[in-house]
Formats: sequence, C-alpha cells, structure tokens
Amino acid sequence: TKFSDLKLGPKVLQAIDEAGYTQPTPIQEAAIPAALDGRDVLGIAQTGTGKTASFTLPMITQLARGRAKARMPRSLVLCPTRELAAQVAENFDTYSAHVKLTKALLIGGVSFKEQDQLIDRGVDVLIATPGRLLDHHERGKLLLNDVKIMVVDEADRMLDMGFIPDIERIFNILRRPYQTLFFSATMAPEIERITNTFLTDPVRIEV
Ligand code: AMP
Repeated sequence: TKFSDLKLGPKVLQAIDEAGYTQPTPIQEAAIPAALDGRDVLGIAQTGTGKTASFTLPMITQLARGRAKARMPRSLVLCPTRELAAQVAENFDTYSAHVKLTKALLIGGVSFKEQDQLIDRGVDVLIATPGRLLDHHERGKLLLNDVKIMVVDEADRMLDMGFIPDIERIFNILRRPYQTLFFSATMAPEIERITNTFLTDPVRIEV
C-alpha cells in the first residue's frame, strides 16, 4: 500500500512526501481509511509504530474544510504528559505544513492568559493534558460543543497516572455526534471499560 491509496488530502500527501515517508506503517494502513470513513478507531499500538500519524493525518484531511469558532475547538488530542503533547504538536505542524489549520497546546507550566488568548482566536486542533483542559473548561474559557474529533493517546499511561476519571468527564462534556480515535499500548480492564462505554462500534486494530 502507498500513502496515495489512502484517500488523504493532496496537501497532506505532499507534507508526508517532504517528511521522507515512503510507505504507511501497519497501523497507518489500517487506521487511516477507517478514520476517513468516519469510524471510531481503537488502536492497540506502542510508541514507534507510527501511531501519531495514524490519527493526525486523517484529522488534518477531515478538518481542512471549515474553520473553528472562537473558544470552540473542532478537535481534541488528549495526552498523558506535557512532553508527549509537545511531540504530537510538532508532528501536527509537520503534516499540516501546507494546510491552513490552527492549533493550541494546553499544558501545565504555561500561563492561563497566554492560552486563553489562543483559544479565543479559535483553534482547529487543541492538544492538551486532561487536567489542564478541564481547568480551562471549568473557568468558562473553553467550550467543547463543537468538538467533532476526539483523540485519546497513550491511554495506558493515562491509567497509570490516574487520569481515567478526567477522560470520562471530558467524554461526558462532548456533544454527539463526534468521532473517537483511541490509542493504548495495552488493554487493561479499566481501559476496556471506557472504550466500551464511549466508543461506537470501533474498528479495533492491534499491531
Ligand atoms: P510514533 O509511533 O507515532 O511515535 O512514530 C515513531 C516515528 O516514526 C516518528 O519519528 C515518525 O516521524 C516516524 N514515522 C511515522 N510514520 C512513518 C512512516 N510511514 N514512514 C517513516 N517514518 C514514519
């Protein structure tokens, strides 16, 4: 399979080409078409498998049309740590080099004021740690009514760090319909339970 067989947008394909990727990894080959079809995806994959591109590339393709309204992000990527969130943001910048999309990073250690200003301008992709995201929401500075794509990355680490209740709270704030792309290296019972609760007929991909 080639990237050009996966129905990604032409500008996304150009960015992948410039990144030097020649062919999709197994998780990308399975997850990208499912995500572009609007399906929920449950990806069981470790770091190093190319899982970040497997959710970022279809997100960029799907969000390329339309614009975010003030304080209403169109997609969320939840990450367990600041470092991982920053890494996802970096990947997103690479793959969206030729697409006009806005993003913001909501992580601890950055002033609320600075982050509020970004959110006020409207962001297509909000990359966040769960606690920080809920802080902004509870302060009334962030609305989650318009989220159409929800990504949970490294759910197994979220579980280790005690973030599963936060993830559930965030899912409960979202308004249906939205698409969920959910990734975990392992499937602990607690993770199985939340995927059963919040994902709709997911395409399950194990690599
Ligand atoms: P990840 O598993 O998402 O952390 O990705 C691991 C590394 O593989 C990252 O440095 C990516 O830039 C790289 N990568 C992802 N997909 C591909 C691909 N299809 N071809 C070559 N490198 C890739």
